[in-house]
Amino acid sequence: MNSRRSKLLRILSFLLALTLFSFPICALESVKNVYHCSHTDEKVIALTFDDGPHPRYTKEILELLDMHGIRATFFMIGENISNYPESAKMVFEAGHEIGNHTDTHPCIRHVSSHGIAEEMRTAEKKIIELTGEKPRLFRPPEGLCSHEICQIAEEMDYSVILWTVDTRDWAGTPTDVITKGVMKRVRGGDILLFHDYVSRRGHTLDALRKIIPALQKEGYTFLTVSELLALEK
Ligand SMILES: [Zn+2]
Repeated sequence: MNSRRSKLLRILSFLLALTLFSFPICALESVKNVYHCSHTDEKVIALTFDDGPHPRYTKEILELLDMHGIRATFFMIGENISNYPESAKMVFEAGHEIGNHTDTHPCIRHVSSHGIAEEMRTAEKKIIELTGEKPRLFRPPEGLCSHEICQIAEEMDYSVILWTVDTRDWAGTPTDVITKGVMKRVRGGDILLFHDYVSRRGHTLDALRKIIPALQKEGYTFLTVSELLALEK
């Protein structure tokens, strides 16, 4: 009886741990162009911001990053680059890395291969107009990476960038929960998922105000995703 109960407890703890880490959906972790993190022993991490740019929130995040001398990676939606070109320009001119997050952020599990490629191509053109360079990093909406998406990304010369730490800022998670979650889970080589735009009241900026100095105090250095992946062993 006791051994059965302890086995059940072990299973429950395992399931709880799985939900806390909330990895993105990816059946293809071994595929060579898909990355959740960088395998390195160094105390380095990458902050990533999805779904912008946004005229107010992106600017506030840029000011905070600048204050701490940090460069990050912004996975932009093409339509938002068109709607807020000045905000997109500010990100680029501040020296941050820019990745492709499709043109309209569709629910891609319902989009055809042709449609996904078109979404990526349209956003890519806008990023090239902005930076003068073809982006090399792609983050699928909702982190959904099927075999088909990985293949399209590879054909278009992209690495698919997922994450190891989802702050769930997109769900309106309170500042302290985001902060404690990151500080508990973060490891060298991690890619952290934030958003510079969320449709409901977000606490991203307030959480970053606590997380950045705390991680710097622990000796972490912040890199762009490309810089982080270049350290892969
Ligand atoms: Zn997104």
